[in-house]
This record gives sequence, C-alpha cells and structure tokens, in this order.
Amino acid sequence: MRRKIIAGNWKMNLGTPQAAKELAWGLVEKLGTYKDADVVLCPPFTALPAVVDEVAESRIAVGAQNLYPEVSGAYTGEISPQFIRDIGCKYVIVGHSERRQYFGETDEFINRKVKLALELGLIPIMCCGETEAEREEGRTEEIVLRHVTGGLSGIHGDLAVKVVLAYEPVWAIGTGRTATPDQAQEVHAFIRDLLAKMFDAETAARFRIQYGGSVKPDNARDLLTRPDIDGALVGGASLKVDSFAGIVMY
Ligand code: PEP
Repeated sequence: MRRKIIAGNWKMNLGTPQAAKELAWGLVEKLGTYKDADVVLCPPFTALPAVVDEVAESRIAVGAQNLYPEVSGAYTGEISPQFIRDIGCKYVIVGHSERRQYFGETDEFINRKVKLALELGLIPIMCCGETEAEREEGRTEEIVLRHVTGGLSGIHGDLAVKVVLAYEPVWAIGTGRTATPDQAQEVHAFIRDLLAKMFDAETAARFRIQYGGSVKPDNARDLLTRPDIDGALVGGASLKVDSFAGIVMY
C-alpha cells in the first residue's frame, strides 16, 4: 500500500520568515497531527529555516524547491543539497517545468541533482510532463518517457524507489485547467509500466507518483482516488491554509 504524499510548492512566494511562519503555523494547527498522508511544505530558500522551526513538533516535513548538484565549491549563488539537508529538510523538488523552461535544465542535469540528493539522504520530488503543444502532437508518452528515464538514469531500483515522481502536464500548471482524472490516470499508469520495464514490477508498484497541475480542494478527491495517483504537488492552492488542508484531507 503506497502512502499518499501531498507537497506544497510555494514557488517564489512568502519568502520572508514572518510570512512563511504564518502559513506554516496555520497548517500545523490544521494538519500537524494528520496521519493519513505525508505532508510536505516547500517554501523559498530564504524561509526554509523558519518553516523547519515552525513545523518541528508536528508531522509536517519541509522540502527545498531546487538544489545545485555539487556539495560545495565555487558556484556563486547556488545552494548545496548538503545545506538543505543540514538545516532540516527531508525533500527537494527537482526538474520542475519552470526550471526546465526558464533555466534550460536538461534531463542530464536533473539526473545529477537526483543522484546527489539521494546520496545525501534527501528525497527528490522529480517532475515530468508535456507541454500543450507536445500533447496536441501526440507526444505525451515520448516526453514523459524521456523525463523519467533521463532523470532516473544510472540509479539502482532499490535507491530509485525513494524518488517521488510528479506528473505535471505543463498546460495544467497555474492555468486552472486540470487534467481530467482519466487523463492523469492514463499517464500515471504509463509511468508505472515504464518503471516496471526499467526496474521490475515489484519495484514499480512501490514508486509514489504525484499529480500536479491546478489541484484544488474540489478536484482533489477525483484525482487522488485513482489507482496510480499517489498524491499531489500543489502550487497556487498551497498558499492558503484552507485550500491546502482541503486537498490533504480530501
Ligand atoms: C506546480 O507548480 O507544481 C503546480 C502544480 O502549480 P499549480 O498547482 O498552481 O498548477
């Protein structure tokens, strides 16, 4: 039985300790003892220590939104996964479509991030998903296959299974246009079949695959009750206590 995992990607919002603590505290009050799913908050780097502190006595975990795939050195402006781990984060998002799109991140670069995160004991939440044009051209499976095989390349199944995958169709992110539960389930089933080919069926069955793209309290149940949808990566709706809690407790 796969445990559901709901993660909030705050993106470039609520980056001051005060603003972040306020949302985190509201979520601790509502979800701090919630046992039926793993709950993860991913604020901007500048708010990570404050949020780690705020959720410390609760069941809520914290993740970063990115990392640089080196432990230390001359990489001005970048953040090591070791820093992320040592300040108390458990998770880190990698390969978000906004990073692929605006910062030119490739599958090879994302693979380096996944490997180093795993090596340091962080759990990567690795995103994949097609753009609207790619879906219209009938290339959804080709793109998702490339993202998943590229991102997990060279990682043994026993370690790879720690990675949380997030299927995020780019056309559904921040647009209010959610994939239908059938569309999402179809791609999730494709990903699980792919994982069975890459590893084996037993390993594939252990992977948690989140859906992301305009998840809201009123569509969460339909999505999260599908057989291969094991959670959600939530952007906009993770910025308010009631909407994020509504998704977690669908
Ligand atoms: C995201 O950024 O990962 C995301 C899914 O955003 P939204 O929920 O706002 O579509």
